[in-house]
Amino acid sequence: MEGAELDYDVLIIGAGVVGCAAARELARHEKTGTGMKLKIGVLEKEPDVGFGTSSRNSAVIHSGINYAPGVLRAYLCVRGNMMMDKLCAELKVPIKRIGKLTVALTKTDLPGLYRQKDQGEANGVPGMELMDNAEMRAIQPGIEGILGLWTPTSAIISSYGLTIGLAENAHANGVDFHLNCAAESIKSPPARGGSFEVRCSGGRTYRSRLAINAAGLRCGEVSAMAGAGSFNIWACRGEYYVLDKRLNGSLKTLIYPVPGPGDPGLGIHLTPTVDGNILIGPSAVYIPDEDREDCRTTSGVAAALRREGLRFLPGLAASDFIRSFAGNRPKRTPPEKGGNADFVVEESSVPGFINLVGIESPGLTSAPAIAEMIRDIVKKHIPISERSGFAAERPGFAGTFSELPLARRADLIVTEPEYGEIICRCEQITKREIRQAIENPLGARTLSSIKYRARAQMGRCQGGFCGPRIVRMMRDEYGFEPEEFFLRGKSRMFSGRVRDAGLGEHPGNRDEGGWV
Ligand SMILES: Cc1cc2nc3c(=O)[nH]c(=O)nc-3n(C[C@H](O)[C@H](O)[C@H](O)COP(=O)(O)OP(=O)(O)OC[C@H]3O[C@@H](n4cnc5c(N)ncnc54)[C@H](O)[C@@H]3O)c2cc1C
Repeated sequence: MEGAELDYDVLIIGAGVVGCAAARELARHEKTGTGMKLKIGVLEKEPDVGFGTSSRNSAVIHSGINYAPGVLRAYLCVRGNMMMDKLCAELKVPIKRIGKLTVALTKTDLPGLYRQKDQGEANGVPGMELMDNAEMRAIQPGIEGILGLWTPTSAIISSYGLTIGLAENAHANGVDFHLNCAAESIKSPPARGGSFEVRCSGGRTYRSRLAINAAGLRCGEVSAMAGAGSFNIWACRGEYYVLDKRLNGSLKTLIYPVPGPGDPGLGIHLTPTVDGNILIGPSAVYIPDEDREDCRTTSGVAAALRREGLRFLPGLAASDFIRSFAGNRPKRTPPEKGGNADFVVEESSVPGFINLVGIESPGLTSAPAIAEMIRDIVKKHIPISERSGFAAERPGFAGTFSELPLARRADLIVTEPEYGEIICRCEQITKREIRQAIENPLGARTLSSIKYRARAQMGRCQGGFCGPRIVRMMRDEYGFEPEEFFLRGKSRMFSGRVRDAGLGEHPGNRDEGGWV
């Protein structure tokens, strides 16, 4: 193996927001003095990037008040928050700085609230203010509570949009993404300066000078594969309800309870999304090890979330609850202890193997700052410097076509007539946007890949109207057979035809049957 040409300088295992942020940050560099880009590969076991925890969270860019001064999470959260506006502008990812009120409902909450303010000050969180009830009501009419902590830098973002944006921009700058490719074993080099050999599903093997473990819930296993230390990770599920856009505008800001010291999450709360929905959640329930990637929702938690929703928004109708989902936190603290432990971002005992362990909240906020730390560790092995040819800007616009000013839409329809044809009625998504999503540069082709890129299927009917139209487009214009369609992961959309009507396979007859 020594002396043979390597596939990569850096191989990243896991294409969540953290792995993709690392890939993009490294892609901006070249090997000093050679004019050669770093060769970077990313392995992802799922059929698309961001299918793990990175698309299953509250999508809040946290300010940094929740973490004790001096811990790594405090630094990474504040730094990541600061980096987010520029990053989102470059990647065309929607972000809204709507601020957050952490609310003390009774006197017993006050010590916790003051603790958060002290932590925020020590961590360098800008613009914090304590507010009485009248001041809070000026921001959020009708809010209850005796004292609130206002953090104006708290924001909401599209979490899957950020991961996709980072990945597609990294790819545009030369990073290879290997989807449906799980790292199954890792042979570490016997000595510093050797290379890692990562054997993947499907029999492929990649060799790399450095390896980064960004495997989220599977980080403990991946570290053990490389002989780089064992970590216990407990999965703690957070379930949500998504509310219909009818309620858009009723929440002006983020409103959180004061968390208790042993709470595994930040408490159930209502979170507006950048797309105009409201999330209720997340719960925090530890789940068995074998279920760590099982993101099912449960009737018991759903009932509790509905009650919470009605407490905050008494006018909610049953039809306002349009969907539920869950995400699992990779925790370093066991259920009997609760609370949170700090992130691990370090070169392991195996030189050149970088471990990212226990990246739960605020991992989304921290991702760009974690990427900077990774870059600095990579620099210790490979001299790198920023290169001039890095294209930071992603083409297109943030959000959807229907959110653009009317004049811009009219111009775009003239050059691209498919912007004039609506496929998803609920979200007003056009055929052009669906086509761009299908033709995504990473080659991800599941229905969820299209949903996360174009927002089609995310509205009130959850794909009831546009789903069949997207499937028809993929069949007629891209040659997919419906039996080959996957929703996400391994769940097939169709198992066969309902009826054939005896009309044969002439293209004009193909709509006469249906698929189940
Ligand atoms: C309920 C909940 C709410 C949250 N809310 C927030 C929030 O509001 N703000 C915030 O900042 N953070 C929040 N977080 C935390 C945030 O979502 C995570 O910290 C972040 O998404 C972690 O990203 P990641 O890339 O480390 O992990 P992941 O997104 O899980 O990515 C890891 C990837 O590695 C892949 N993988 C695993 N094993 C292998 C293998 N062997 N080979 C190849 N690929 C592999 C997985 O398929 C996955 O895609 C929340 C988390 C949860 C669960």
